Amino acid sequence: MTNPAFPILDWTVIGAGPAGIAAIGKLIDKGIAPEKIGWIDPRFCVGDLGGKWREVPSNTTVGLFLDYIHASKAFQFKQRPQKFKIEELPTKNTCLLEEIVKPLQWITDQLKGKVNAIQDAAIALNHIHGKWEIKTDQQRLHSKNVILAIGSEPKNLPHAKPEIIPLETALAPNKLIEHIKPNDTVGVFGSSHSAILVLANLVELQPKKIINFYRSPLKYALYLDHWILYDDTGLKGFTAQWAKEHLEKNVPDILDRVLVSDHIFDESLSLCNKVIYAVGFERRKTPVLEQFEHLRYDDTTGIIAPGLFGIGIAFPQAKFNPLGRLEHRVGLWKFIDYLDSILPIWMKYAN
Ligand SMILES: Cc1cc2nc3c(=O)[nH]c(=O)nc-3n(C[C@H](O)[C@H](O)[C@H](O)COP(=O)(O)OP(=O)(O)OC[C@H]3O[C@@H](n4cnc5c(N)ncnc54)[C@H](O)[C@@H]3O)c2cc1C
Repeated sequence: MTNPAFPILDWTVIGAGPAGIAAIGKLIDKGIAPEKIGWIDPRFCVGDLGGKWREVPSNTTVGLFLDYIHASKAFQFKQRPQKFKIEELPTKNTCLLEEIVKPLQWITDQLKGKVNAIQDAAIALNHIHGKWEIKTDQQRLHSKNVILAIGSEPKNLPHAKPEIIPLETALAPNKLIEHIKPNDTVGVFGSSHSAILVLANLVELQPKKIINFYRSPLKYALYLDHWILYDDTGLKGFTAQWAKEHLEKNVPDILDRVLVSDHIFDESLSLCNKVIYAVGFERRKTPVLEQFEHLRYDDTTGIIAPGLFGIGIAFPQAKFNPLGRLEHRVGLWKFIDYLDSILPIWMKYAN
């Protein structure tokens, strides 16, 4: 049923994680009337950051999170009833992701009150007569333009045998403790920020053995004068310190590292009764995208089709670093920075 409360919307954002929040704020800043904007999410609880990663130490600084929350006039952050803890933390330090979730939840609640917020999952998206028709379980709405900010999920690998501990559990020390027994041999795949956090959590719990399966050497972010080498892939903050200390200098007795191409890989994996995959993320599978099975997006502009755009971890921006290396940029501040450059283009490419 078309909801009579919604005339044809100008813009609809699907997803209310950090990328969706940024998109709503920036659309309003650009002069789009809030009553012409739709916003769809089943929870409106700051996406996976709010739902899964609260207990995780950040890899970016408090300062960059503060830049995000001050980046949109529409966030009206000055009107918050009191300061959040993150505002009192040293700006050059990292923090638990929970500290940024709290102000983002406040911003979400403010923005929800201004735009047409629909608490539901979008289940279909079709281009009909020059407009996008979006179906949710409850209703059907029409929008000239749609921004997909649907997020991504951790990837798994097809090693069938050992029991898989989900990354979400492995990154939350309070949950992981319930899954690790003293006799366990746990395989951890990966060597990025998430993998190192998992290794640090496991070492605290002291199973019989931890085997870290990795594909490439450790990579550290390097802070140069005006930019960061390996900004999107290198270890930073706590994970950089932990890896230097525990994977390079003083490797704990219970921890082995095995290159996945090494001849001992199969034998080492057969010793593991549990595995954790920290091997990256893939775009969330959603019925909205079923008709776009071979979806390609322009990773320099986020354009998917006329009037259809993508942002956030599911549609990251590709950008050359000053040395000419192409990187896909993921992070809260990067979503804002990207929107500042592409929103003027989207508005011209809009229906
Ligand atoms: C372990 C870890 C540590 C990180 N540390 C940092 C850090 O220190 N600094 C930093 O800047 N970034 C960090 N990130 C990255 C950052 O958290 C993510 O890139 C960001 O949260 C992604 O935001 P998003 O809005 O793109 O996606 P999500 O947060 O996944 O949000 C997507 C939203 O879309 C909704 N959605 C999906 N499908 C539908 C549908 N069909 N209909 C309606 N709604 C839908 C979902 O419910 C969800 O609310 C970290 C990520 C991880 C995993």
